[in-house]
Amino acid sequence: MNIINQLPIIAILFQHIEIIFYSGLSNIKRFWGFESSNQQLYQNKYEEKMSQYHHTKVLIIGSGPAGYTAGVYASRAMLSPILIQGIEPGGQLTTTTEVENWPGDTEVQGPDLMVRMEAHAKEMGCEIIGDIVTKLEVDSRPFVATCDSGKKYSADAIILATGARAKWLGLPSEEKYKGFGVSACATCDGFFYRGQEIAVIGGGNTAVEEALFLTNFASKVTLVHRRDELRAEKILQDRLFKNSKIEPIWFHELDEVIGTESPLGVEAIRIKNTMTGKLSDVPCKGVFVAIGHAPATELVKNILDTHNGGYVKVEPGSTRTSVPGIFAAGDLTDHIYRQAVTSAGMGCMAALDAEKFISESD
Ligand code: NAP
Repeated sequence: MNIINQLPIIAILFQHIEIIFYSGLSNIKRFWGFESSNQQLYQNKYEEKMSQYHHTKVLIIGSGPAGYTAGVYASRAMLSPILIQGIEPGGQLTTTTEVENWPGDTEVQGPDLMVRMEAHAKEMGCEIIGDIVTKLEVDSRPFVATCDSGKKYSADAIILATGARAKWLGLPSEEKYKGFGVSACATCDGFFYRGQEIAVIGGGNTAVEEALFLTNFASKVTLVHRRDELRAEKILQDRLFKNSKIEPIWFHELDEVIGTESPLGVEAIRIKNTMTGKLSDVPCKGVFVAIGHAPATELVKNILDTHNGGYVKVEPGSTRTSVPGIFAAGDLTDHIYRQAVTSAGMGCMAALDAEKFISESD
C-alpha cells in the first residue's frame, strides 16, 4: 500500500482522535467542576456571594430618622432588612436637646426620640447592627458592604441614610484647639464650661439652639454671626433675644482662636468685622462652631452622582440614585429642608422604592 495515498485518511483519523481527546477532557473538567458555561459561572458567583456574606434583601446604612423609618417600612413589607448604625448611632438628633417640631410630641428630647425610633424599627423586625460600613461594591448585584468589624453583607437593594456632619471653618487654630475648648456639640461638651464665658459661631437653628442650651452652664454666651440677620426659625430668635445671658455680635466672623500651649486651652477668640476688616478679641473659654452641615458621602464618592455641593442626586419625586437598586434618603440627599420629619418621610419613600425594585427584579 502506498503510504502517500493514505495521508488524507490518516489526517482525518488524527482530527477525530483530537476531537475525542479534547471533548473528553472538557467533559472530565466539567465533571470535576473546573469548567462551566457562562450562565453556570454567573450562577456560581452569585451563590458564592450569598453564602460567603450575610445576605439581606435590603441593607439600610445609617440610623437617623431616615434610616429607622426605612427600617420600619421595609420590615412591614416583609423584606427582613438589616440596618448598620454607623459612627453615631441615632445621628444628629442625639446631639440636640428639645425637639418641638416632631408631630405628635410638643416637646421631646432628641436622644429619647432616637431611642424610640430604634425600638420601633426593631419591634417591626429590622435587624440592627452596631457597626460602620467602610466599603461598598456596587458593580454587580447583590451589592456588597464591608464593615469596620470585617463582616460583609450582601444585599439586593441598599438604602443610604448616612445623614450629614457638622462643618468646620478650616482655620489652623480651630483644628489646634479641637477637643481643648473648640467643639461642634453643645450637648456633648457644654457641661465643661460651667460659670465661664462661651462663644458660638453661626446664625442658623443649630447656632441659636446651642447658644440657648449653653446658657444653662455659661456665665455669658456671645453669638458671632457674619450678617445682621439670623437664619434660625423666628420662635428660636425670639427666645435668643429675650435671653439676657446672650450677646449677639453682628457682621463678624471668627479669624483665630487664641489660647495657651501647655496645657492646650482657649482664652479668647479674635473676630473680624466683615464690613471694615477690623480685628477685635472676645474673651471666652469655649468656642462652639455651628455653621451648618455637610452630607456624609465618603462611602459613595465616585460611585453615585452628586450635585449642589456634594449631596447625592436622586430622581425628582423618588429616592432612586444613579445606580439602580441604591436609594438615598435624608440629609445625605436633601440640601433644602433637612428636618427630622422630612428625613423620616424620605426613609419611608426609600423603603417603598426598594420594595418595588426588588419585586420587579425577581
Ligand atoms: P444652616 O441653617 O445652614 O445655618 C448655618 C449658619 O452658619 C448660617 O447662619 C450661616 O450664615 C453660618 N455660616 C455658614 N458658613 C459660615 C462661615 N464659613 N463662617 C461664618 N458663618 C457661616 O445650618 P444649621 O443651623 O446647622 O441647620 C441645618 C439644618 O438643620 C437646617 O435646615 C435647620 O433648620 C435644621 N435644624 C433644625 C433644628 C430644629 O428643627 N429644631 C435644629 C437644628 C437644625 P448665613 O446665614 O450668613 O448663611
